[in-house]
Amino acid sequence: MNKDIATPVRTRAILEKYGFSFKKSLGQNFLIDTNILNRIVDHANLTEESGAIEVGPGIGALTEQIARRSKKVVAFEIDQRLLPILEDTLSPYENTKIIHSDVLKADVAEMIANEFAGFKDIMVVANLPYYVTTPIIMKLLEEKLPIRGIVCMLQKEVAERIAAKPGTKDYGSLSIAVQYYTDAETVMIVPKTVFVPQPNVDSAVIRLTVRATPKVAVKSESFFFQVTKASFAQRRKTILNNLTSQLPEGKMKKDAILSALQEANVEPTRRGETLSIEEFALLSDALLPHFQ
Ligand code: SAM
Repeated sequence: MNKDIATPVRTRAILEKYGFSFKKSLGQNFLIDTNILNRIVDHANLTEESGAIEVGPGIGALTEQIARRSKKVVAFEIDQRLLPILEDTLSPYENTKIIHSDVLKADVAEMIANEFAGFKDIMVVANLPYYVTTPIIMKLLEEKLPIRGIVCMLQKEVAERIAAKPGTKDYGSLSIAVQYYTDAETVMIVPKTVFVPQPNVDSAVIRLTVRATPKVAVKSESFFFQVTKASFAQRRKTILNNLTSQLPEGKMKKDAILSALQEANVEPTRRGETLSIEEFALLSDALLPHFQ
């Protein structure tokens, strides 16, 4: 077996060989612990037939471990300086491909059609750049890609918000947006010491398993997300106050909002954080005719 990239000694040697300096603005915190990397890959439940998509391979620490346990890995990397390094470090793994692109601008669906034709199982596995964690996760989910799920490292605080249940302080529109598409669970808490450089925040690994159908059926997805965002605009306000102040012409439509709340069986004095996703679905469907 080839020597692991992710040992502190090998990582330092690779960085020195190429005179690489970290760019904080690109969220570059590389993993230097093979045990953690292996556990991340374990949570993805890959097989020899699986395809994997990685966001931000860095110097290839995670890419290597995924490559050993899947059929093919395609990774998006934004930083051109990493391309020659990856060509070197990943040379033993013919089943890896790097695409030089900002994943937020990439046509991921087209990439999947081109690179993973015939694959029955595709997972996203990544140690995400923390400055764009939420946009990346939401892009991958909103595009309804043919993936089984996402296993990724991110800020612990964001992981807690994503997996939060109603009635908790972390529960909000992000929890609802992600749990609409997936079953979300935090599977690991990760100390700062396994990264170079060490990030300022604690980290966690979450597993998002894409649901066959969204958690709730709604008449308009975009309006459902608009209602959930509006309901959490000011967390200490009641749902009635948030909806009247946030929805278009909400103040003028206060009576309609009150009757929709009644139709959905939601007391106007409740706060958004107490509503389940099912209640938000009923509420958004009841509000919709008044905002079309
Ligand atoms: N996978 C490596 C590891 O675990 O050691 C590196 C992870 S590092 C946290 C994040 C990586 O994402 C960096 O290599 C960074 O250059 C890259 N990156 C940052 N923004 C990106 C974007 N918008 N699209 C693709 N890659 C990005």
